[in-house]
Amino acid sequence: MSADLTAYRGLRDALPGNCTLVAVSKFQPVEAIEALYAAGHRDFGENRVQELAAKAAALPKDIRWHMIGRIQTNKIREFAPFVHLVHSVDRLEVLRVLEKEAERAGRRIDVLLQVHIAQEETKAGFSPDEVLGLCAVNVLRAYPHLRVVGLMGMASLTDDRSQIRAEFARLASLFRAAREQLGVEQVTVLSMGMSGDYDLALAEGANHVRVGSLLFGARSGQ
Ligand SMILES: *Cc1c(COP(=O)(O)O)cnc(C)c1O
Repeated sequence: MSADLTAYRGLRDALPGNCTLVAVSKFQPVEAIEALYAAGHRDFGENRVQELAAKAAALPKDIRWHMIGRIQTNKIREFAPFVHLVHSVDRLEVLRVLEKEAERAGRRIDVLLQVHIAQEETKAGFSPDEVLGLCAVNVLRAYPHLRVVGLMGMASLTDDRSQIRAEFARLASLFRAAREQLGVEQVTVLSMGMSGDYDLALAEGANHVRVGSLLFGARSGQ
């Protein structure tokens, strides 16, 4: 499996200029990433820590690595020194350990709060109310080495596009509330939309889309 450069260029051209394309390279070999890198791409997303760390070690240092998968807190140390943006902060324990590891690495880490907007119980994330609670007065001051720069969400796995769009709209409105609470300069990232629904996410204001199979083909071994 390797990168589909035609699909990549088509998507690049279709996305608005302010939208960051996170190429989700999970399960893809290093060569597939190198092909997109050679075409000028720098933002890549991974969902497993071991794979993220191995690829980061093997690939050029100017790649911006996005952690998008469920986080086991005992693995945070492996990506804290270099990760560009953590999309998948889905519980307080992750904030707590990320803070500790960011301090240890001597840096500040940008994070997104993952919000549970889908109908499936299996999907991770804070509830919208929990997000509002976190954004309210001072809660996030407890994490001086972290900067909450936005929200991330995944829509339900359904063919009902109007439901998907409604879920994205809900996340977008929560994003606006978070901006009001934490400041529009700090909160700038709305990460939503994947291969099958990024158009709906864009229509609702996404400025980071996380696209895998459209760029790399279907994943095997998942
Ligand atoms: C795998 C994954 C994606 C990309 O999914 P595609 O359907 O292949 O585009 C996006 N976000 C998250 C969190 C993922 O795990």
